[in-house]
Amino acid sequence: KTIIIAVAIALLLAVIMGYVFAQTLTGPILALTRGAKNMAEGNFEQSLKVRSSDEIGQLTSSFNYMASELTKNMSEIYQEKNRLEILLHNMSDGVISFNKDGEFMLANTAATEMLEVDKIDMDFSTFIRNYDINSGVYLDVGTEPSKRVTFPVGKQFISATFTPYYSAAGQIEGLVVVLQDITEQKKLDDMRKEFVANVSHELRTPLTTVKSYTETLMDGAMDDKEIAMEFLGIIDSEADRMAFLVRDLLQLSRFDNKQVLLDITDIEMNEFLSLTVKQNKIHAEGKHQQLTFEPYKEDVVIHGDRDRVGQVVNNIVTNAMKYSLEQATIKIYITEDDIYYKITVKDTGMGIAREDLPRIFERFYRVDKARSRAMGGTGLGLAIAKEIMESHGGKLTAESEYGKGTTMTMWFPKKPPEPPCKEA
Ligand code: ADP
Repeated sequence: KTIIIAVAIALLLAVIMGYVFAQTLTGPILALTRGAKNMAEGNFEQSLKVRSSDEIGQLTSSFNYMASELTKNMSEIYQEKNRLEILLHNMSDGVISFNKDGEFMLANTAATEMLEVDKIDMDFSTFIRNYDINSGVYLDVGTEPSKRVTFPVGKQFISATFTPYYSAAGQIEGLVVVLQDITEQKKLDDMRKEFVANVSHELRTPLTTVKSYTETLMDGAMDDKEIAMEFLGIIDSEADRMAFLVRDLLQLSRFDNKQVLLDITDIEMNEFLSLTVKQNKIHAEGKHQQLTFEPYKEDVVIHGDRDRVGQVVNNIVTNAMKYSLEQATIKIYITEDDIYYKITVKDTGMGIAREDLPRIFERFYRVDKARSRAMGGTGLGLAIAKEIMESHGGKLTAESEYGKGTTMTMWFPKKPPEPPCKEA
């Protein structure tokens, strides 16, 4: 009996000791296994309890150190990714990337806006097809440098630069497409080309005339004094036309280069306009037109450069007379609102068609080219007038009904403008 009890106690003690021993040895190993599994699932922020200073304890400490380093590294990577994403999505250039199989990888907000879609979810070949990008662009560009193409999207013009990117081993990994909105640039470019073409055309006509009349004179027409005088008169007026054109072009160029210095003084417009009417009355009467100015009920003092304001007013009044037939009436009057004094020139002339109206302030734009030329116009008068009004902090507007008449209004700010232009 004693032996049985002793054996039972010994067995019990053995089981208890075995359990305690197993706990101290396998507990931390199980905890480590669980920790490693958690980590594999992406949970890096964990710390295991170090229960002993033996090898398992050291292993647990190392595990904890590894977890904290991984947490730190992952948060750095996350921050970096975040920074790149913010950068990408706030860029004004559009960015799209495709992998080497042509599958869509990513695109930023600017790219979706430029391509006028809600989401870019198309592969490379669909992208090329949808935007009708010509064949010069393909996926496997090898070691070729980037390629640039321009294509329209609605009313915009987009320039796309296709650049391949490579793996560390030098294998092509995909393509990055950088998009830029070049609509403004293209518009300016077109305008510049049109301007050069216009100037050349405007100069060529009088030059041809001068040349042909000079040749005729040299070929013998000089001997007939009457014909010679007539031809010289034509040459003189063509030379004048070229001089006017160059003068107007120079003036516009000075406005463009902000080289215009305004000599601002106070100008009382009732007096100023009465004088303008007096000076132009004789021309109006020559065409049996009625030119009138109705002075405002009180003094109207604007702040402006007397010569330039005169240039604008004269241009508009002479236009009203030029583009009106006989018997027309041209009325000048002043009104005001809180911000502006408005000087209006209203004629009962030929008017301007609705589609031409927004363009009359453009350089060289003329509704009726032949008539404008015949009247000695360069097609630059209103473009200069607009620049002058804007340099005074004001504006120039036009309303018109074809066949009925035109109303041009000069808006002068009541408050003196900041000095807008400085001598270069
Ligand atoms: P231009 O030297 O040809 O007169 P402007 O710049 O002064 O050039 O005017 C541009 C065009 O606007 C003119 O060619 C003319 O067709 C039109 N225009 C200007 N003022 C009037 C008006 N009062 N009535 C009708 N057409 C006008």
